[in-house]
Amino acid sequence: MTPMTIGWAASAAVIVAAGLWFSWRWRRLSWRYASLEAANGELQQSLDRCRNALRALEGEYSQLTDRLPVGVLTLSSEVVRKANHKATILLGKGADSIIGRPLVHLDIPYDLLEIIRRVAELRAPVHEAITFGDAQPRIMDVVAVPLLPGEGASGEILMLINDLTELRRLETVRRDFVANVSHELRTPLATIRAMTETLQDGAKEDAEVANRFLENIIQEVDRLTRISDDLLILSKAEIGTPERRSVSLVQIVRDVVERVRSQAEAAHINIQMSDSPDSWLEGDPDQIEQVVVNLVDNAINYTLPGGSVLVTVQEQSDSVTLLVRDTGIGIAQKDLPRIFERFYRVDKARSRRTGGTGLGLSIVKHIVEAHGGSVSVVSEFNHGSTFTVTLPKNSSFKENEQ
Ligand code: ADP
Repeated sequence: MTPMTIGWAASAAVIVAAGLWFSWRWRRLSWRYASLEAANGELQQSLDRCRNALRALEGEYSQLTDRLPVGVLTLSSEVVRKANHKATILLGKGADSIIGRPLVHLDIPYDLLEIIRRVAELRAPVHEAITFGDAQPRIMDVVAVPLLPGEGASGEILMLINDLTELRRLETVRRDFVANVSHELRTPLATIRAMTETLQDGAKEDAEVANRFLENIIQEVDRLTRISDDLLILSKAEIGTPERRSVSLVQIVRDVVERVRSQAEAAHINIQMSDSPDSWLEGDPDQIEQVVVNLVDNAINYTLPGGSVLVTVQEQSDSVTLLVRDTGIGIAQKDLPRIFERFYRVDKARSRRTGGTGLGLSIVKHIVEAHGGSVSVVSEFNHGSTFTVTLPKNSSFKENEQ
């Protein structure tokens, strides 16, 4: 072999070796590429799974929070990220106009903005009651808590808004009611005490005076009994839903009219029941009787001698109506909106003389509304009144508000 041939052979060997090495590298790269592609595919799949799971979670979150009776908002960097259905109602804005928008661009109460800024600054929960709206102010209980750690306004904030307006109104009603009850009880108690002391101080020696005082004491005790009876009826009507039994309204009216006939005659008042179809409805017989008694009693008590009372029952396809019409003293327009309030009396002295407690009509309204019905009055001062009660035949009873 010549040196030249040896050189050629060596070069060829080097080229073959390089070729083999490149082909081996190429195959290895191809394998790696193929396995990378497979891994990428798997990653894509698990990413899709995560995305779907996230979407499902978000759907569940919305479904859950949309059912809550409180407003739920999440915010980050002073931008609303999520808002449930109640939050959009409380803020008076559609979800589209809130979500993704900076708070400063939303016309929301300044106090709410202040709370969010304070939470962002302190990174601590803030709980406060604030008022929304000027024309019809509503009281909102706001709880805002920082969710994720983050400096300044960048961290996430969860905010719960609860409308307390109705609760506060009921608290006021309850407070006023207790104050009214104690006032109503104090008056007869003070009279009883004063008369008893006068008797003790010597009036008992005068038989005539003593008898008059004792009669007055009995009257005041009767009055206390009536108040406590009416309070019991009212609280019974407030607790739970009424009984559901078949009730003949006509039969109840007939019984009540017969029972009060002698009382009406003694007061020189003519009481009549007009011919009515036998109308049945579902309800609590005792409570419906109470409604009839209270309205008929009032009609007699607020009608002057020589006047008349007419009670009518009318039947419609799905309801029954009771009308109690009198030719009595009537009610002035200014008093009409208030007569169904507890203890409201147009003429206290007159109501007192007739043994009224000021609770009769509020009992009527409560019972009728609990049966899913309604009560209204049309009256002309000095010319009489007509009270109309409409009750559904098949009551969808209203849950009593506590
Ligand atoms: P009261 O025990 O004083 O009768 P109610 O709640 O039954 O209380 O009625 C409230 C007030 O409404 C009465 O004090 C009276 O001023 C007025 N009122 C009720 N019914 C009549 C009526 N038929 N005619 C005139 N005024 C009435």
